[in-house]
Amino acid sequence: MRNQVKIFKNPNCKKVRGSHVLEVSCAYCGCFIAHYQKVGESNFVKMYNERIIEGSIDFSQYHGALFCPDCGRQIATRYITKMDKKEAYRFIRSAFHKRKV
Ligand SMILES: [Zn+2]
Repeated sequence: MRNQVKIFKNPNCKKVRGSHVLEVSCAYCGCFIAHYQKVGESNFVKMYNERIIEGSIDFSQYHGALFCPDCGRQIATRYITKMDKKEAYRFIRSAFHKRKV
């Protein structure tokens, strides 16, 4: 049984054309983390804040790092991308699972 978590809509979310939606969950406890608009088939290593649709973390708030709301393990670290200077979260390898929705 999955724990019920509160879902926050991300007010920064912009609809991305041609994207598909990934569901991201915690690799340790399986807790839902976010729905994300992924573009292309490149490796999934980071999430841009503006592509996060909703999540169990309130993405309208500042987070230096992302922690699973259920088990408290760290999942990602915030940074600003070099290329386009956008707010993003870089995943810690093996701390998350993803699947197409
Ligand atoms: Zn967890």
